[in-house]
Amino acid sequence: MRLAFTLARAVGNTPLIKLRAASEITGCTILGKAEFMNPGQSVKDRAALFIFDDAWTKGQIRSGGVIVEGTAGNTGIGLTMIGNVMGCRTVIVIPDNQSIEKKDALRLLGAELVEVPVVPYSDPNNYVNYSERLVAALAKTEPNGVIWANQFDNIANRQAHVETTAAEIWEQTQGRVHGFVSAVGTGGTLAGVTQGLRERCKDIKIALADPPGAALHSYYTTGQLKAEGSSIAEGIGQTRITKNLKGFMPDFSYRIPDAEALDIAFNLVREEGLCLGASSGVNIAGAIRLARELGRGKTIVTVLCDLGMRYQSKMFNPHFLREKGLPVPKWLEQTPLPPP
Ligand code: PMP
Repeated sequence: MRLAFTLARAVGNTPLIKLRAASEITGCTILGKAEFMNPGQSVKDRAALFIFDDAWTKGQIRSGGVIVEGTAGNTGIGLTMIGNVMGCRTVIVIPDNQSIEKKDALRLLGAELVEVPVVPYSDPNNYVNYSERLVAALAKTEPNGVIWANQFDNIANRQAHVETTAAEIWEQTQGRVHGFVSAVGTGGTLAGVTQGLRERCKDIKIALADPPGAALHSYYTTGQLKAEGSSIAEGIGQTRITKNLKGFMPDFSYRIPDAEALDIAFNLVREEGLCLGASSGVNIAGAIRLARELGRGKTIVTVLCDLGMRYQSKMFNPHFLREKGLPVPKWLEQTPLPPP
């Protein structure tokens, strides 16, 4: 297919980076899968590619067709890039509280952006439901096919991680991996990597790292989908069992406060040169907790989902942090250079 020699080639095969501080304080080897190195600079390129490829193979879309998706941004970036390669339009429905950097990237790539107010999934105007309705409306006039990527309930998403992410982790660690931790947006990453790794090693320990405002920690520990609080982390924080999460069960589950995730993300910038988004901070906090659970000498893998540059106006902005009642690191307060 036409995608074979395009940017699709640059998706996946990301390196594992040893996280020094996290490893030192736990006596374990904590490795982060550098998903920010994908062409769309996030873990979601894998899902975008598999979802599009699945629809294309089934003949649901041709060049000139339209891709529609409700997304916090990263999946939209991946889909728009692939859409551009294949001559398809991309229509993205995004909650209006997502970072300006992600929206700008989408516009730059040529996505048609529909910003909608933040309302829960149960509301028909939630970005996911809105995008589903848009597909039905567009389908009446578009002759080359209109697809709804439907990343939450389309298991081509999970399959991307079974076939690529999990296989890579196994190979890169030469099978010496004792645990895997991740937060959940759609659940594609966590459920897919879990499936792929458990197929190879049934003893591997899997942990969910859940931000405030998500209901999964409560679900996997009490059986009740109950959400409390809120988080500044974008792209994660699920309140329902998506199709990608069907049949998934973690061995451990942790609720990670924003302050804990941000402290890790801030230290990584100045001490390890890694400027990552908040969901990566949640993931690393979860990896540290799992390492403590399993004991010294273990190898734990987690996901470095995207870069902090995508959130400079938010989690790296002292005004935003103060407004949210979150601690501001000293170095972030200081203007490093005088104006030119
Ligand atoms: N981190 C970020 C920044 C994301 O955009 C997403 C996806 N929405 C995730 C983590 C979670 O990935 P998944 O959808 O595979 O659960």
